[in-house]
Amino acid sequence: MPIATVNPATGETLETYDALSEEEIERRLATADSTFRTYRTTSFDERARLLRRAAELLEEDRQDIARTMTSEMGKPITQARAEADKCAKAMRWYADHAAELLADEEPAGHDVKDSGGSRAYVRYRPLGPVLAVMPWNFPLWQVVRFAAPALMAGNVGLLKHASNVPQTALYLEDLFRRAGFPEGCFQTLLIGSSAVEGVLRDRRVKAATLTGSEPAGRSVASVASDEIKKTVLELGGSDPFVVMPSADVERAARVAVTARTQNTGQSCIAAKRFIVHEDVYDAFTERFVEGMKALKVGDPLDEDTQVGPLSSERGRDDLAELVDDAVEHGATVLCGGERPDGPGAYYPPTVLADVTPEMRIHQEESFGPVATLHRVAGLDEAVAVANDTPFGLSSNVWTREEADIDRFVRDLEAGGVYVNGMTASHPALPFGGVKRSGYGRELSGHGIREFCNITTVWHGA
Ligand code: NAP
Repeated sequence: MPIATVNPATGETLETYDALSEEEIERRLATADSTFRTYRTTSFDERARLLRRAAELLEEDRQDIARTMTSEMGKPITQARAEADKCAKAMRWYADHAAELLADEEPAGHDVKDSGGSRAYVRYRPLGPVLAVMPWNFPLWQVVRFAAPALMAGNVGLLKHASNVPQTALYLEDLFRRAGFPEGCFQTLLIGSSAVEGVLRDRRVKAATLTGSEPAGRSVASVASDEIKKTVLELGGSDPFVVMPSADVERAARVAVTARTQNTGQSCIAAKRFIVHEDVYDAFTERFVEGMKALKVGDPLDEDTQVGPLSSERGRDDLAELVDDAVEHGATVLCGGERPDGPGAYYPPTVLADVTPEMRIHQEESFGPVATLHRVAGLDEAVAVANDTPFGLSSNVWTREEADIDRFVRDLEAGGVYVNGMTASHPALPFGGVKRSGYGRELSGHGIREFCNITTVWHGA
C-alpha cells in the first residue's frame, strides 16, 4: 500500500511519501532507546507539564488538523474537530491522574510478615520503546489514547500509522516535539506494514500495541510472541444493540442512528447488529429507518454533513460486497443498499432485515453505515443472538427492567455493556474486547499499566 494522502471525497492523490530507509529506521530506533534511558527518570510533574502543553497546542491547531484528517480519510469535519478536542481532554486526564494511577501499591491480601519481610510494595516502572501500529479511522484519537498514558508512564513511543494518514502521523510527531518532549520520546515511522516485523523484532523495542483488523493483529501478535514481547490488541467489533420492550423506543432509535453512522460507520465500537424484541420491533424499525434516511450524506468539509465518503474505494468495495452477498441470500433492504455513481467513495446509510446466519454480514464486521436488524422473542434469544459473533468488543442494551440489565451484564460476551446509551470511549473507563476483538485494555488505570514493569519490591526483616 503506498504511503499517501488520497482524498476519498474526490479520489485525488494529494501527497505521496517515500517509506523510511533502513538507515533512517535504525537512527530512529537508536534515538528512542537512548532517549528512554533519560526520559524514564523524569518526574510525573515534568511529564504532565509537557502533556498539558501538547493539549494546549492541539486545541490551537484544531481547525487545521481537523481539515487534514478529513482530507485524508473523509471524516465529517465537525466530527474531526470533536476528535481533536477529545484528544486534548484525554491528555489532560492522564496528566492529572497518572501519578495516582501508578503510585506504589500495597499488594492486596498480603501481610508482609507472612513472606518474612518488613515491607513490600509494587512499583509500576516503564518498559521502554513501545511500537504502536494504528488504524486510520480515528487517526488522532487512536494514537493519543496510546501515547498519553505511555508518555506519562515514562515509556517512549514509535508510531507506525496507517499508510493513508501520513500527514496526521507526521503532525503527531511534530506536536509532541513542539510541546517540549525530548527528541525521541515520540517518533513517527513512515513505513509500510511489511516493515513492522523488523521493527518489532529489534531488541530495543519492548512491546507493541495494535489497533486494526484481525489479520494485522494476528501477524503482530505472532511476531511478538516469537520475541516474547507484550502486546495489546484492539481489533474489530460487531457490537449488538439490544432493544427490549420496556425501552424508550423513540430515544433508542435516535441513538441507534448515531451509534451506527458516527464516523461514517467506520468505528470498531459502532453498534452494527440491532436486536429488537418483537413487541417493539415495528415501532423501532420505522423510526430507525426514518432516521437513517434523513441523514445528510455529502462533502465531509460541509458543516452540515453527517455521513461522508468511506475512507477509500477499497473500503467501499468491501462494504458493498457484504451487502450484495446478504441481498443475494435473501436479506430485505429497508433503505440504501445501492452504490452511488459519481466521484468519491460514498455509500448510503443502509438497513437490512431478514438477515440469516449463512450471510457473510452475520459473522463479519461491516465497516460503514450498514445496519442489520434481528427480531427476537425474548431475553434468552436476545442474549444468544447478541453473542452469536466471533467478536466481543462492546454492547448496548436498552431496557428499564433491572432483571434484564442483570442478565445482560452477566451474560454478554463483550468488553463493555452500555445500558440505555451508546458505547463511547472515555479516558477514565477501560476500553477493549474479548474473543476476536482482542485482549488487553486501553485508557483508565488498566490501560496505563499495560506497558509497565509491575515490579515487586520486598525488604527483609
Ligand atoms: P488494518 O488494515 O489492520 O490496518 C491497521 C494498521 O495495521 C495499519 O497501520 C496497517 O498498516 C497495519 N497493518 C496491516 N497489516 C499488517 C500486518 N500484516 N502487519 C503489521 N501491520 C499491519 O485495519 P484497517 O482495516 O485499516 O482498520 C479498520 C479495522 O480496525 C477494523 O477492523 C476496526 O474494527 C479496527 N479497529 C479497532 C479498534 C479497537 O479499538 N478495537 C479501533 C479502531 C479500529 P498499512 O496501512 O500500511 O496497511
